[in-house]
Amino acid sequence: MGDIKESTAVTFPSGAVAGRSRVVAALPVDGGYGVIVAETPFHPLDNSWPDQPGDTGVIRWDELELRVADCVTGAVPLADGALPPEDALPSEGARPTDRQRHADRERHTDRARHTDRERHADRAPLTDRARHVGSGRRTGSARISGRSRLAGGTLLTGDDIPVRRGDPDWAWLVVHVLERRVPEDEVVELDVEPVRREALSAGHTACHLMALALNRALADRWRKEPPRTDSLGRPDFDQLAIAASRIVPHGSVDTYRIGRSLRKRGFVAEGLAGALGDVEAAVNEQLAAWIAADATVRLDVPSPELAARRLWRCDLPEGTASLPCGGTHLRATGELSRARVRLELSDTGDELVVETRAETA
Ligand SMILES: [Zn+2]
Repeated sequence: MGDIKESTAVTFPSGAVAGRSRVVAALPVDGGYGVIVAETPFHPLDNSWPDQPGDTGVIRWDELELRVADCVTGAVPLADGALPPEDALPSEGARPTDRQRHADRERHTDRARHTDRERHADRAPLTDRARHVGSGRRTGSARISGRSRLAGGTLLTGDDIPVRRGDPDWAWLVVHVLERRVPEDEVVELDVEPVRREALSAGHTACHLMALALNRALADRWRKEPPRTDSLGRPDFDQLAIAASRIVPHGSVDTYRIGRSLRKRGFVAEGLAGALGDVEAAVNEQLAAWIAADATVRLDVPSPELAARRLWRCDLPEGTASLPCGGTHLRATGELSRARVRLELSDTGDELVVETRAETA
């Protein structure tokens, strides 16, 4: 077994879909073998805010073409003692069925898990958008969770990773899930399925634009200074209310919680149901204008490691928007030909679901 000393270097933030690298480790995981290479173009499902599903594709080795059925984030402690004792980890049976969890791992290192969205939806401020852990399952991507022995320690994946994203005492790894093992130290070629990647990138770019357009459309529904504003200076409804975000090919589904604490912070929920059509129209109009502006989209990448804190930036006519983001994106808003949303408010008025659909040119 490989001795892992370093995080996987990733090239997907620049849009790469192909690469060549050395196999660092290959070990059994749920659903097959987890193959780890030194550098990869594959985007893995994130364990702490799994909004964008893992890439699929192939790994080529020794004239074999091996299907990468899924791609997930793994973590292995770099030093003895970094791994908590076995009984500190939740047992399989103790996991909530929908695997929801806190998005803001930086404030919650106690691995608290919640089976109901209400309990965490109103927490803020979020350092990144809250993610719905169950999303992978609904998009057909296998959820992998578990531990496997490595010479350098234990590889943990999914819900079993007990530390927050990017913990410096751990190596952060892209785990390609294959049906068979590939020997360590072999050099392999990695090819992401490009059509699906492009569709997910379109969905992710549209999702961020929707968030900013929604903040704008709801900006006059705050009766006092909100606790945070977005990068364009508007009350940040998106980050304050997001309960779940799920990127799908050519779109996203975002769930917002309009609870008591959001109202306490100054959001005026009264009359929202009646105004929903206007909000929807305003978001759609803004999306069309931003697509017409063909604004450049880029990711700021501080270092090549998987867990590096990357920043999505978009040079919109009213200023450069930015959001922390671990996913993949188009290169300009003009690569979308159209993006539209559909808003649905629950009967009780405390849950807003925004379905975004994006078409590419
Ligand atoms: Zn993002």
